[in-house]
Amino acid sequence: MGEDNWIHQFPPRLPTPPRLPTPPRLPTPPRLPTPPRLPTPPRLPTPPAPSSDFEESDHEMGSRRNRLLEDEYPTATLPKMRNALEFIRMVKEATLASQFDAEELAELLEPQEHISTPPDDPSLKLSLLNYISFMGCSQDIYEAACQNVRQCYPDIELLSHYRVERQARLLSGVITWEHHMCVKSCVAFTGPFAGLEQCPNCGEARYEEKDLEESNGERKVPRKVFTTFPVGPQLQARWKHPQTAKNMFYRWEKTQELRREPNDPLDIYDRESLSER
Ligand SMILES: [Zn+2]
Repeated sequence: MGEDNWIHQFPPRLPTPPRLPTPPRLPTPPRLPTPPRLPTPPRLPTPPAPSSDFEESDHEMGSRRNRLLEDEYPTATLPKMRNALEFIRMVKEATLASQFDAEELAELLEPQEHISTPPDDPSLKLSLLNYISFMGCSQDIYEAACQNVRQCYPDIELLSHYRVERQARLLSGVITWEHHMCVKSCVAFTGPFAGLEQCPNCGEARYEEKDLEESNGERKVPRKVFTTFPVGPQLQARWKHPQTAKNMFYRWEKTQELRREPNDPLDIYDRESLSER
């Protein structure tokens, strides 16, 4: 017997199972009677046409909605909740004019060209370099570094922290805001806390008591401050140098690449920047 015939004979054919009997047919269920048709409801009268003055109508609707909201959500009684709502309201109502002073706002809305080259004066340059290096540190660190430099180079005239900050602001256009805060860092005296003279959390005094006593409450020196850099002037400053202005187009350029080659996966890493590191 050849090998092919052996494959065709395996497995052996099973006998056909006996045919099962057909199940008996079930009787058809009786047809249910059709429900009686309900009478058609009477047609409601057409409502009167809205007022032709739509603005007034919207206004009325708005004030009605406001009244409803006020009724539904009464003023919070828990102090923390009340403060949170007050912060939300103040953030909602904040405008550029309410945050920036007139000079800062004019500079933000219509920025003038700045000198983008670093200053040639070595004293100014060193002062600025130190200021940038110690940004975020205490003011005392900057002053201590200046003292160290003066010990080695007595003839050098380094700028005070106040003056170097002003120069940095003039050269870059980036401004800083200082806010008072609790000496234990519980809260900032902003928003609903702006008028407080003690921390609402720990009760620590906001101002130096010695200065207040010596000046009969006239000289208010904060015990602790924090500095913030508003984002608007930072963005404007980026347009003042060719390289940073070019960098501002990064997202736009990558979007154009995507549109040109929709089937190619976009390289999400900037290889040029990575290789520079
Ligand atoms: Zn506190």
